[in-house]
Amino acid sequence: MNTAFTYSDGDHVTASGIKRHDYAYGHHIIGTTRHLRSSLRYGPYAWPGGHARAYMCSDGEMLCPACVRAEYRQISNSVRHSINDGWQVIACVAIDDTDTDECCAHCGVGLASL
Ligand SMILES: [Zn+2]
Repeated sequence: MNTAFTYSDGDHVTASGIKRHDYAYGHHIIGTTRHLRSSLRYGPYAWPGGHARAYMCSDGEMLCPACVRAEYRQISNSVRHSINDGWQVIACVAIDDTDTDECCAHCGVGLASL
């Protein structure tokens, strides 16, 4: 195989044949920074359904994927050390655009409009 490929179970094979387990997977519970990175690589939309995915913090606030990427250093430190400082991401959820007007707690974008 000469091209990189990501399987639906999240495993990834690089162009040089290196296999990375759980590289891009849609984790719902974010308990480790590995879960967080894998979930970010999975992409901004849930499958099946195609709903936008957003990240829930331990204080109940929601973050959009762009803010999680932008503030990754702060968030990964809070996840790694279980620091309840408003940046500790604990879950990734699909946003059903029919039942929410929730906004990202950092940038204010409407999560249903992602
Ligand atoms: Zn945001």
